[in-house]
Amino acid sequence: MASRKVIIVGGGIAGLTLAIGLRQAGIAVDVLEEQPSWRVLGVGISLTGPTLRALRSLGLIDQCVAVSFGYSQMLVFDREGAQTGAIDMPRLNGPDCPAQVAIERRALHDVLLAAAEQSGARIRLGLSVRSYCQDKDSIALELTDGSHERCDLMVGADGLHSKVRAMAFPDAPAPRFTGLAVWRYTMARPPAVDCMHLAYGGGNKPGLNPVSPQSMFLFLVQKIESGARLPYEQLPALLRDQLTPYKGTLDWVREQIVDPALVDYRPMESLLVPAPWYRGRIVLIGDAAHTTTPHLATGAGIAIEDTVVLAEELANDAPIEAALANYMKRRFERCRLVVDTALLLGEWEKDPTIPASNHVKLIRETYATLAAPI
Ligand SMILES: Cc1cc2nc3c(=O)[nH]c(=O)nc-3n(C[C@H](O)[C@H](O)[C@H](O)COP(=O)(O)OP(=O)(O)OC[C@H]3O[C@@H](n4cnc5c(N)ncnc54)[C@H](O)[C@@H]3O)c2cc1C
Repeated sequence: MASRKVIIVGGGIAGLTLAIGLRQAGIAVDVLEEQPSWRVLGVGISLTGPTLRALRSLGLIDQCVAVSFGYSQMLVFDREGAQTGAIDMPRLNGPDCPAQVAIERRALHDVLLAAAEQSGARIRLGLSVRSYCQDKDSIALELTDGSHERCDLMVGADGLHSKVRAMAFPDAPAPRFTGLAVWRYTMARPPAVDCMHLAYGGGNKPGLNPVSPQSMFLFLVQKIESGARLPYEQLPALLRDQLTPYKGTLDWVREQIVDPALVDYRPMESLLVPAPWYRGRIVLIGDAAHTTTPHLATGAGIAIEDTVVLAEELANDAPIEAALANYMKRRFERCRLVVDTALLLGEWEKDPTIPASNHVKLIRETYATLAAPI
């Protein structure tokens, strides 16, 4: 197995975790990342119980928990700021580990990059694949600097607008605009926000997520007509407007939104590439294969799970095709559940007649299903 070599295109969450898993299996790995230097978004991300379980299997859970904020409940509020419910999340990683954590993306990136480098993966910045040619024994790549590489498997871990997908899966569907956008803004954490808060009933869905003892981020899902960009200078005022109907902690939060550089606004797209996600010696993982809206906070989670499963299958010494077929069997339905359920939750958010209790029930049931082993 030590003679196998894998080239991973994309050094995001999926690419780096796959590099770690493959190196643990003794497989040689190159990661090609097109950015010339790392640029990681300055907002937070939730790592749910199943996501932490996948990180635990890679030996990374302690480092992630140490630099994050843990909790085991989500609290649900109405627009007046009154609590209307709570969702207890399954504690899948033992009584000493919170059910879920939220972490700054940069902190997660630092943990993953350090582990990938330490594992012996070769991480090459400012580089991508230009073309490829495969036969039954290997795949030859031409890289964007004109050099050539040969390997046993090329992995597309290059995100929603994957170039590997465009080259190898020209018939794959295009990402679908969902009619929703997400706003995010990081600010100081008031002590009362010690777990995720969600508010329903004001036309949008705002929430608060603590990422460290000092800070938290606001997220707000808004129904939109088009994916057009918004004027930079007006971003804080536009976000404050969306929060107007909300009282309680969100009243205070609204006043903190002043700096356009801290506003992250993005229309949301969704994609599920039909199975199989492999063609010969090329396979897709993470957002390149399945991009979900963040309604279950699980997009990175299923990306990390993909990498655990793919590394396990490749470590079995099975022929590449059998390993990829097993990867597909173990991943498709679970990823479909996340993508489809998140889309449904988004559709419900556009309809003010759907009560918050329906959302809470579906989220609770889906988390229970996702607690099953992968
Ligand atoms: C608003 C929002 C909130 C979210 N919140 C959560 C959450 O709370 N919890 C959760 O689990 N998930 C969340 N997600 C989803 C999560 O961010 C993604 O699922 C995850 O980042 C996917 O990782 P990836 O590595 O597959 O793709 P990406 O993160 O997109 O990484 C792709 C990498 O490939 C590189 N690349 C791109 N093209 C090329 C190329 N041609 N050649 C070489 N390199 C290339 C990019 O520079 C990047 O480094 C959220 C997503 C959004 C949009």
